[in-house]
Amino acid sequence: MTDRRGAAVEGDPASRLLSSVTSLPGITPLRGRELAEEGIRTVFDLLLHLPRRYEDRSAFRSIGSLRIGEAATVTGTILGGRSRPPWYGRVAVHEIVVDDGTGSVTAVWYGQRFLAKSLVAGRRVALFGKLAVGFKNRTRLEGPEWEILSDDAGEDGGIHVGRVVPIYSKIGSGSYLSGKRLRRLLWNAVHSLPPELDDLLGDAFLVSRGWPSRAASLAEAHFPGLTGVVIPEGSEPGALTFPPRERLAFEELLALQLELSRERRRRRAEPRGIVLRTTASIRDRAREVLPFPLTGAQKRVLKEIASDLASGKEMARLLQGDVGSGKTIVALIALLLAAENGAQGAFLAPTEILAEQHAALFSRRLGPAGIRWALLTGSVKGAERRRILEELSAGRIQILIGTHAILQQPIAFRNLALAVIDEQHRFGVAHLEALGRKGSASAPPHVLVMTATPIPRSLALTLYGDLDISILDELPPGRQPVRTHVREESARADVLGFVASRVAKGERAFVVFPFVEGSASQTEVRALLTHFAEAQKLLPGVATVLVHGRMKSADRLAAMDRFARGDAPVLFATTVIEVGVDVPEAAVMVIENPERFGLAQLHQLRGRIGRGKVRSHCILLVGAGASEEARRRLEEFASLTDGFRVAEADLLARGPGEILGRRQSGRSDFRVADPIAELPLMVLARAEAEKLVESEEDDRLLRFLGEWRSGGSAVPITG
Ligand code: ADP
Ligand code: MG
Repeated sequence: MTDRRGAAVEGDPASRLLSSVTSLPGITPLRGRELAEEGIRTVFDLLLHLPRRYEDRSAFRSIGSLRIGEAATVTGTILGGRSRPPWYGRVAVHEIVVDDGTGSVTAVWYGQRFLAKSLVAGRRVALFGKLAVGFKNRTRLEGPEWEILSDDAGEDGGIHVGRVVPIYSKIGSGSYLSGKRLRRLLWNAVHSLPPELDDLLGDAFLVSRGWPSRAASLAEAHFPGLTGVVIPEGSEPGALTFPPRERLAFEELLALQLELSRERRRRRAEPRGIVLRTTASIRDRAREVLPFPLTGAQKRVLKEIASDLASGKEMARLLQGDVGSGKTIVALIALLLAAENGAQGAFLAPTEILAEQHAALFSRRLGPAGIRWALLTGSVKGAERRRILEELSAGRIQILIGTHAILQQPIAFRNLALAVIDEQHRFGVAHLEALGRKGSASAPPHVLVMTATPIPRSLALTLYGDLDISILDELPPGRQPVRTHVREESARADVLGFVASRVAKGERAFVVFPFVEGSASQTEVRALLTHFAEAQKLLPGVATVLVHGRMKSADRLAAMDRFARGDAPVLFATTVIEVGVDVPEAAVMVIENPERFGLAQLHQLRGRIGRGKVRSHCILLVGAGASEEARRRLEEFASLTDGFRVAEADLLARGPGEILGRRQSGRSDFRVADPIAELPLMVLARAEAEKLVESEEDDRLLRFLGEWRSGGSAVPITG
């Protein structure tokens, strides 16, 4: 039997990790599909869902020695119980008395009717909770964690009590994969492993790091103490340096570095970049399509790119430039260069809005020049999609603009020579590699990655391999820095009055909300659909439009278009406009609940204005509930205009992990490791990967990589 990755599953202990989660007890095909949606397909994928934290429920007490206020686990036999059903608006109550020979204690739960079925007289049970003083001064355990003990379970045999217990974030949107059920599922997964797993990390290496074996690490990371391996004093479960967790983090970083090492080796072995030359006539063409003279920095960067493309080596270049520095036109010229060489180019953006906007620019600039381009996003479906795919593989489309969707379908280019990825901090390494594979097998495309988020060079190297770096350190002429003001939300009417006065002068404005729709739990936060009407009333006679991620692409395009043309000078939006949206007449931005955003994100948002000749204003309407700390942070942001400075401040405020935007969607590209907080581990992984690529059999490396490939990733496994 083989699984989808083609690896043998049966009979091979290491491959146990690759068997489907549906092989575990309790995982129906339906649950299997739910898990798959969350990127969890294999037992290993599931095991990488590490606890969010742990709770020490290991302190056993005899009931007779329980003290008030102390958290402890007791075991005993249920002497009896009684239930009161829910009654006239009062919740159900279930109460039992448990005895262990040293004494007896009452435990009580509220609102959990189903308990009456499980906690019945005669059963042995373990309880974890704090002894409290209740009604009429009687002591009791209120709502303790509980577990029925089977007759043969010793005192340490419990899953949910009597140990250091893992607490997980739930998986998926429902509540099925949460709490005790999820814990039991992971317990089963851990116990489905053979005691020994094939280990790419040698014994000597493990000993030098103080890390347990592979199987023990997986078990201990979930249920500390389960295997009896010795964990040194002072490394608490949950800490980054907890050896079982750290070992798994290292594996993950190693998987990344192995891919990069293999890639480097391949590139060294066969330098076979597609040669794209810049001829005099191409230079003329470029001049024709340019709407303005390039800045010095743009010229320099284009020269660097052109020389890469003509060199016969594969380009892998990172272009960093603050918001508004003019990266798009650099991409456009580079793609034009590919097209004029008779090859194809691809331009990838993180959002549909941005892809649509790029398409509009390409249509204006390259359409008249006779370049054939197409836009492919998730919204392009059916016959249109088929037509585009066909023309791509026939080579009739010269430049494809799109979103991630480009990577998720099987797409064949005829001769892809250059892939440009905009706002890279939103993409994972896997995406990059997938693009690399879209070229013909004999010659991978050149890759240009563009980002406004400054990444330290050392980090960029470890994350993306051997990238060359270009920097756009000059803004187009005539820009004036945006003025940023921090105001209280009580000043909303004033602020919108200001907006109205600017609009009367022919300017345009954004009003940005942190959420599309309000929720009951977040009444203090402004949401677009809930509050825009109220804001609109403060702008009498001003035409407005709405843009958010849940709109149909056509409606959104129409709205953006009305805004861009000035028919509706005020745009109410969520952060879908965060990256790249470019309307030079927009000179005012109001941000509701700015305390909800990270500074880097605010900087991206603010980058939507200050693109024209007039002075732009960004007004942060701080929510009444914002903390002092948040206000201080926003004041600091208001004083900074340079993206690198903002990134620094953000780094200090939020810790390094957030900066790359990896967590903006709540899911990072890394499942265990924090590549920034654990940079030294990354450096170690890089060195180890170089060694392994030289010394280890390729099959073994590939199997390891196969295990680590995200189950949710659309990236195919290739040799
Ligand atoms: P970003 O680097 O944030 O992607 P864009 O490419 O969106 O920046 O460019 C920001 C704005 O600056 C756009 O309106 C663009 O037309 C304009 N722009 C870019 N380069 C120049 C230039 N050399 N001269 C004048 N305006 C420019
Ligand atoms: Mg941009």
